[in-house]
Amino acid sequence: MSFAVIDATYWPSLQLGPAGQMIRDALGDMYERDGRGGAMVTSVHPLQAGKVARIAKKYTPVIVGGPGALSPGAYESAAAVVLGDYRAFFAELSKRGYDAATNLSNVFVHSESRGVSIDSSFDWSASGRYRAEDGKVQVFCSRGCKRRCAFCQTGWALNYSENPDVDSVILQAAGAKVTLVSNALSQVSYFDRLPASAASHTLREAVSLGVSSATVRVGIEGVSQRLRKAVQKPISNQELVDGTLLLNRRGCQVRWFLIAGLPGEVWEDWLELTDCVKAYTTNHARGTLQISFTAYVPEPSTPLKGQPYSEEYFEHYERFARWYFDYARINHLSIFRPQGPKPRAAKAAAQMHPSNDRVLYPHRGKIVRALGLYQDSLR
Ligand code: SF4
Repeated sequence: MSFAVIDATYWPSLQLGPAGQMIRDALGDMYERDGRGGAMVTSVHPLQAGKVARIAKKYTPVIVGGPGALSPGAYESAAAVVLGDYRAFFAELSKRGYDAATNLSNVFVHSESRGVSIDSSFDWSASGRYRAEDGKVQVFCSRGCKRRCAFCQTGWALNYSENPDVDSVILQAAGAKVTLVSNALSQVSYFDRLPASAASHTLREAVSLGVSSATVRVGIEGVSQRLRKAVQKPISNQELVDGTLLLNRRGCQVRWFLIAGLPGEVWEDWLELTDCVKAYTTNHARGTLQISFTAYVPEPSTPLKGQPYSEEYFEHYERFARWYFDYARINHLSIFRPQGPKPRAAKAAAQMHPSNDRVLYPHRGKIVRALGLYQDSLR
């Protein structure tokens, strides 16, 4: 059996990102560039299920992997979806054949009803071997995230692990044109041996670690103090404003990433954000602030997955934006709108396909307590 490798992000071009390149090499003799048989498709989000359906018209069978596969239900046209590491699947395919491989515990097949788990292992030896389209070599530092914010699939769908070959990572990281790949670099146990980087810090860490790179991008998440506490990223309004001003004084441009529409969000939460922006602009001396909004989308491994959420977030954003354009529009501050309700609904439908109930996410035993903490924080 032979397979083409397709990166759903680039389809119909056959360009491969680092994940596709890794799959191509791991397939070994089973790889066939022209693909007269099946296709291994790497997908970053289940929203790409439509592309996979088009690929399935040309290739048989189609097997999906990649980050999107952690919510496998939407890929209804795929013959199978491999959750997490694909090496055991390829080994089984080559030794015992297709039926044995698709029967593995981390392989989801739509017509079946068995539970499937995620293989959290990872081929760390691939670190430093692949270039992304920006021309930079990817050095893999860690997978998953210890923080497990209440809304985030990364923390809840994978077990946290680090590249065990520390010396090799340090050596690779010192090279030119390198990207350190990690969801939260400051969590890596040998972080202090890595080159200074603005990536993957919380605002508090960026301030206390003395980060002074050109742009500091920080996931602030909730638009208010209580929402940030609820998702497990507590940062007070005062700290948010003071930390941003301090980074500006150090010469850093700051970009906040905020989630619009977390469950339980109300207009009063946005009023707090308005107050933060007022305090920032009043005390601003230099530098810039960008505020980037992303619409909340439920993800199936997380504590918030079943919580009601509404479209009001967009009205809240538009009210905030009107205020911003009427009163606060100044050249050192800019805002970026979240997705509207329609694309957000499509994304949510892809993530929350009912078949995802079959996935035995590794931290599922902890979500009831985490949800309780979230709800308590909103009271
Ligand atoms: S939002 Fe960031 S810090 Fe929180 S769990 Fe996800 S990756 Fe980790």
